[in-house]
Amino acid sequence: MLDPVEKILQKEVLHKDEIITLIQLKPPYNSLLHQKASDVKEKSVGKVVYFRGLIEYSNRCSKSCYYCGIRSHNTLLKRYQLTDKEVIEAANYAHQNRFASIVIQSGEESSQKFITTIERLLGEIRQLTNGELHVTLSLGEQKEEAYRRWFDAGAQRYLLRIETSNPELYKRLHPVDKMHTYNRRLETLSLIKKVGYQTGTGVMIGLPFQTVEDLADDLIFFREMDIDMAGMGPYIEHEETPLFEYRNQLLPIQERLEISLNMVALLRIMMPNINIAATTAMQTIDPQGRERALLAGANVMMPNLTPLKYKESYLLYNNKPGLEDDAEESKESMEEEIRRAGDKIGYGEWGNSRHYELRIK
Ligand code: SF4
Repeated sequence: MLDPVEKILQKEVLHKDEIITLIQLKPPYNSLLHQKASDVKEKSVGKVVYFRGLIEYSNRCSKSCYYCGIRSHNTLLKRYQLTDKEVIEAANYAHQNRFASIVIQSGEESSQKFITTIERLLGEIRQLTNGELHVTLSLGEQKEEAYRRWFDAGAQRYLLRIETSNPELYKRLHPVDKMHTYNRRLETLSLIKKVGYQTGTGVMIGLPFQTVEDLADDLIFFREMDIDMAGMGPYIEHEETPLFEYRNQLLPIQERLEISLNMVALLRIMMPNINIAATTAMQTIDPQGRERALLAGANVMMPNLTPLKYKESYLLYNNKPGLEDDAEESKESMEEEIRRAGDKIGYGEWGNSRHYELRIK
C-alpha cells in the first residue's frame, strides 16, 4: 500500500487540501517531498544553479512596511546610495567572473532622478559588457513609464514580492494608506508582466497572523499568476519594526525554515520550469539552509556584490549572514554549497526562466 504522502505526490495537479498536508510535513517525513522536487528539478531545468550577483543599490525607501528593517520610519539607520562607479565595478566583477546576471535591488524611490539614474546605469552596463550581462531589477512599485524605460535600457527581469496573497493579512503588515495597498501591488505585478519582463514574486513564510491556508493560497496564487521566477523565505523579525511586538506569537525559527523548504519543494513540483531562489534568509537560520533549498528544488543563488562598507545598512531582518564577506568570499561559499548539493554552476549562462521562454513563444 502506498504511503499517503507518496499517493498525493503522484497526482498531476495538487489541490489546496493536499498542499496544506504537504506544507506541514516535518523532517524526516518531508524527505519524500524534497526528493520528488529534486527529481522534477533535474528533469525540467537540470541540476544547474545560476548566479545572480546581488547589488544592494540603496537603502532609501519612501515606504514603511511593518516588517522591514529599512522602512522610512527607522530613523536609526544611516542611509546610502552606491555611486555609479561602485555599481559599474560590481557589474564588472560579475561579468569577469562569468556570473552572466546581476540583480539591482533597493528601497522604493520613484523620483525622475532615480528613474533616470537607473536607466543610465543599465545603458552603461549593457555597453561595458556587450549586452552579455543580464539584469534583474527589484526596485519596488513604479509607473508603467519607468518599467518601459528600464526594459528598453536593458533590464530583462523584475522581482516584486507580493509578500502574502491574503489581502487581509497584507493590510496587517503595512500602513493603511494609498502607498501600501494590496490591489496596487497586484496591479503592478501584472503591469511588469505586460511590459515584457521575466516576472518574479515571492512571499514571507511564518509571519505573525499567517495560517497554513494562507501559505497554500500563496502557492496557488503563483500558479494562477503564471509567474516565471520566485524568491521566498522565512520571515525573520527585525527589532526596529512594528511587527517585532508580535515576536512571541511566531513559530519557532527552525519550523519556519522547514516550512519554507517544503514551500520551495512544492513550488518546484507545481511549476517545474520556473526559476526558484535559494534565499539568504534560509541561511540565517541554518548554515546549510541554502544548500538544503537546492536539494528541495531551488536553482538560483545570489552572491552579494554590495561593497562591504554598506552591507550593515541593508538589514531587512536581524542576523543577516555574510556581512563581513566580500564578493569573493560570498561567491566561494556559495560555490561550495552548490558542489555539496551535487549541482553544477551555470557559469556564463543567463539561466533565463524556461517558463518565460515557453510563455513568450
Ligand atoms: S519592504 Fe521594500 S518597500 Fe517596504 S519598507 Fe522595505 S524596502 Fe521599502
